[in-house]
Amino acid sequence: MTNKLKYFIGNWKVFGDFGSLKIIYQIHRFYVKFKKRHIVKNKIILCVPSTLIYFFTKKFKSKFISIGAQNCHHQKMYGSFTGSLSASMLKKVGAKYIILGHSENRSEGDTNRLIKQKIKSALDQKLNVIFCIGETIAEKKEGKTFSVLKKQMRDSIDKKYNSNNIFIAYEPIWSIGTGKIPKVQELKKIFKFIKGEFKKNFKTRSFPIVLYGGSVNDKNIRMFSSISEIDGFLIGGASQSSKKFIDIIKNYYR
Ligand code: PEP
Repeated sequence: MTNKLKYFIGNWKVFGDFGSLKIIYQIHRFYVKFKKRHIVKNKIILCVPSTLIYFFTKKFKSKFISIGAQNCHHQKMYGSFTGSLSASMLKKVGAKYIILGHSENRSEGDTNRLIKQKIKSALDQKLNVIFCIGETIAEKKEGKTFSVLKKQMRDSIDKKYNSNNIFIAYEPIWSIGTGKIPKVQELKKIFKFIKGEFKKNFKTRSFPIVLYGGSVNDKNIRMFSSISEIDGFLIGGASQSSKKFIDIIKNYYR
């Protein structure tokens, strides 16, 4: 069992309403008991729809669970951007983290350049950024995984940014929601590459926190636990159920 700090981050996507507060209570209750039995360091973050951030952070205070957002507009504060929310607004309602560059947002037009601006406005608000990168299946087949990841990082992170507040989430696009996952040896190489590239190119105290995301569930989590380079997980579908999310954590440390 590892004693390195591990992150379990949920991406609820378009899911949840006020009643979903019970999911957070259930995870919290499990976690309080779990911490009594296991001396392990980990952190739970739930990135929920913007409509729920204020409600959850006001109704529920937990030192174990933090609440995050899933995207923001690239401008800093206020402006004529109908339907959008700025990083400062999300911060004010209680978000501590924010997912940026998710492939679902990239597929709707988020370019590396736009993501760079979003990262800047989030960092300016002292939000911790969970920056998603990953290749398509076609890019993987053409052997372009490393060059794609390198470009996504270089084009979206400015050397001047405070990179200590940026987590990288490696999310191969072909793995999101498909049940398909990369092989252990592939992941080891990719994680080493991402950490090396990041440390070499950006202002950072140490190696960055790098998460894996893509079809993580309670069955395959054991396989991931053998890869020490992985600092945690970004979990989509399975984070929408307290049972599945709890089973992922339990099975990781089994
Ligand atoms: C995601 O959307 O960030 C994700 C990892 O989804 P899933 O776990 O459902 O593949």
